Amino acid sequence: MGSITLEHVKKTFGGHQVIPDISLEIADGEFVVFVGPSGCGKSTLLRLIAGLEDATSGTIWLDGRDMTDQPPAKRHLSMVFQSYALYPHMSVYDNIAFPLKMANQAKPAIDAKVREAAGVLNLTDYLDRKPRALSGGQRQRVAIGRAIVRQPKAFLFDEPLSNLDAALRVNMRLEITELHQQLKTTMIYVTHDQVEAMTMADRIVVLNAGRVEQFGTPLELYRTPANRFVAGFIGSPR
Ligand code: ADP
Ligand code: MG
Repeated sequence: MGSITLEHVKKTFGGHQVIPDISLEIADGEFVVFVGPSGCGKSTLLRLIAGLEDATSGTIWLDGRDMTDQPPAKRHLSMVFQSYALYPHMSVYDNIAFPLKMANQAKPAIDAKVREAAGVLNLTDYLDRKPRALSGGQRQRVAIGRAIVRQPKAFLFDEPLSNLDAALRVNMRLEITELHQQLKTTMIYVTHDQVEAMTMADRIVVLNAGRVEQFGTPLELYRTPANRFVAGFIGSPR
């Protein structure tokens, strides 16, 4: 349902090659983390997959179909950002329901999906509140709830926890990996935090200057880093 394949994807911004040439295959249901230093192209790669940026060249396959020229709405992916992008004047309920209302779904169907997502995310008691009356972690859960109700083929997270304090971040990591175990939907998770990558991922893509240095399980990266960059970045004793 949610496999993602990139074939020789390239992206140039005004003469600057941000992604020189990336090919990747992500299997349905995998939790893949893109990790690398700031400015290495993680967000750009995610935005290319989401359709928020057009690749300069190359092909993006979702679920076995060429989606390279399809707009974001046709890709059936849900993106979760660091800045929660909630509507301040709307209740939690309406924030989560928003994409379904936009899609003109029937009220009872919307209600069932919102309540189910709220249950999964421990938000049932907060549905009437406005975002300003929530903690940072709760706000991020609302943003995730809004992503869940769309029943996407994959979730794309762009540094979703960077705004949270350290203790909360550890909690939310667990919540997101538990969510993955429950939903079994493909997730791509972008972070510059090695610990986050090592603790959350089925497989990790280590990026450096728009290139894939290594793509493997946390254990593979730790035991057999492909080069000094990976070894240094992951912190293994090579
Ligand atoms: P990361 O998310 O890993 O920090 P980004 O994907 O945001 O990195 O950025 C990678 C590089 O591409 C950076 O050098 C950034 O300045 C550049 N870049 C990103 N978006 C644009 C854009 N819209 N226009 C020009 N340059 C961009
Ligand atoms: Mg980024």
